[in-house]
Amino acid sequence: MSELSDLYQEVILDHNRRPRNFRPIDDASRTQEGYNPLCGDRLTLYVKLDGRSIVDLSFQGSGCAISKASASLMTEALKGKTVEQARELFDRFHDMVTSSTDVAAPDLGKLSVLSGVREYPTRVKCASLAWHTLKAAVADGTDGPVSTE
Ligand code: ZN
Repeated sequence: MSELSDLYQEVILDHNRRPRNFRPIDDASRTQEGYNPLCGDRLTLYVKLDGRSIVDLSFQGSGCAISKASASLMTEALKGKTVEQARELFDRFHDMVTSSTDVAAPDLGKLSVLSGVREYPTRVKCASLAWHTLKAAVADGTDGPVSTE
């Protein structure tokens, strides 16, 4: 494993051990559940909106290190962004983890630590669970839990 991968792994382990924004939001505008049956990852996402701005974002749940770290990194990355910016980041993140080529994603910042999951197809769902859940949370007229299957 390269030194870069070691660094990435350290960030993932750190976010797994001490997930950021791991709490409920009592007055959340949207609450959405997500489930990845392939791995058993479950999370509840809380989104507080002010118009089209995500003013607060948090999650709770249990799952593997990748799913937890990804949710933690996502809440950090999207707080203060608009719903449109969040959707755009979702697309870029999704491209990064599903791309078969080693495309650089410099503008994804810390989120690029998860680029390594593209080598492990079953892990892609762990990494994208929080993102799919967020997409459903900010979509209009969606209800019911999100499943990656
Ligand atoms: Zn998982």
